[in-house]
Amino acid sequence: MTRVYLDHNASAPLKPAVKAAMVQALDLVGNPSSVHGFGRAVRRAVEDARAQVAALAGVRPAQVFFTGSGTEANNLALRGFPGRRLVVSAIEHESVLATAPDAPRIPVDRDGVADLDALKRLLAAGEGPALVSLMLANNETGVIQPVAQAAAIAHAHGALLHCDAVQAAGRLPLDLAALGADLLTVSAHKIGGPAGAGALIIAEGLEPEALIRGGGQEKRRRAGTENVVGLVGFGAAARLALQELPDAERLTRLRDALEAQVRDAVPEALVMGGGAARVGNTSCLLLPGAPGETQVMALDLAGVAVSAGSACSSGKVKPSHVLAAMGQGADAAASAIRVSLGWDSDAAAVDRFVAAYAGMAQRRWRAPAA
Ligand code: PLP
Repeated sequence: MTRVYLDHNASAPLKPAVKAAMVQALDLVGNPSSVHGFGRAVRRAVEDARAQVAALAGVRPAQVFFTGSGTEANNLALRGFPGRRLVVSAIEHESVLATAPDAPRIPVDRDGVADLDALKRLLAAGEGPALVSLMLANNETGVIQPVAQAAAIAHAHGALLHCDAVQAAGRLPLDLAALGADLLTVSAHKIGGPAGAGALIIAEGLEPEALIRGGGQEKRRRAGTENVVGLVGFGAAARLALQELPDAERLTRLRDALEAQVRDAVPEALVMGGGAARVGNTSCLLLPGAPGETQVMALDLAGVAVSAGSACSSGKVKPSHVLAAMGQGADAAASAIRVSLGWDSDAAAVDRFVAAYAGMAQRRWRAPAA
């Protein structure tokens, strides 16, 4: 049985050209901080990668600060300005929520779009300068957030805006200035690069405090000898993501076809966030009464890999905080799966998913006809 991978939002398969670039980089010798010829060659590889990531984000290379993950970039953004109070949306990734446990949450509507009037109220209510964190595309639903408007509101209140663009990179054009963001997070392994490489893009003139101190790497914002092979892979993946942005339309058509077929085959399934603008690769399907983890296991047995919309901790199904914020009750918020397509997805994969999903719904959860 060939297995079908529809979990790109968790981690995309490494693109072959990225792998080739990384294999070549394994032969580089030396430390990029060394001044000899070996070191200078390695430095060139790191700086080429920086330029490629900068092009993807619409910024100058000097604005790209490499980190060990998207998680670390989010931590650097939020912890880098200790004088500012944090305001974060209720649907952020755990790496933002756990970094700002006491921060007020910007609520979202039933489609999962941040409520900008609430943001205005939260900013007006607090004392002192703030830092707002609002993601560009949600990892569970794909719903696109009104980042440019939020940035304008933030700036009118003297606040900075951080945007986690991990799930938007390669799916939407990125441009720091057009978004109005001051800080932007990207991660390599969601765009066909390796895990363990991320970046925080920083607007000119801002200087977050370093989380990791030691050497002078990344202009003292992130000490530690660079993960050269990982960064070369990140650069190659960023170059391809930019080139292949038009492929997003193909994925949107595939995703829309998937949802149309699901509606026909399993009418009780609900598309979460379907009323809002979404990135074209993601579908969050809620099947009332069917725990997400059980759905994931049933689909895995049928050879189709997807994620539960909810995280699983210590064997227990945890309701999705994203779906809960969208107004779903605890049971519903634990009954969703996320299907996420990417560069290697095709119509055959969608057909396999729909057949497996319809079979699962039929066998296990559909009430017998009266
Ligand atoms: N932000 C979002 C929206 C994500 O989906 C993820 C990964 O799932 C991250 C941040 C974390 O990125 P990384 O896996 O590189 O730490």
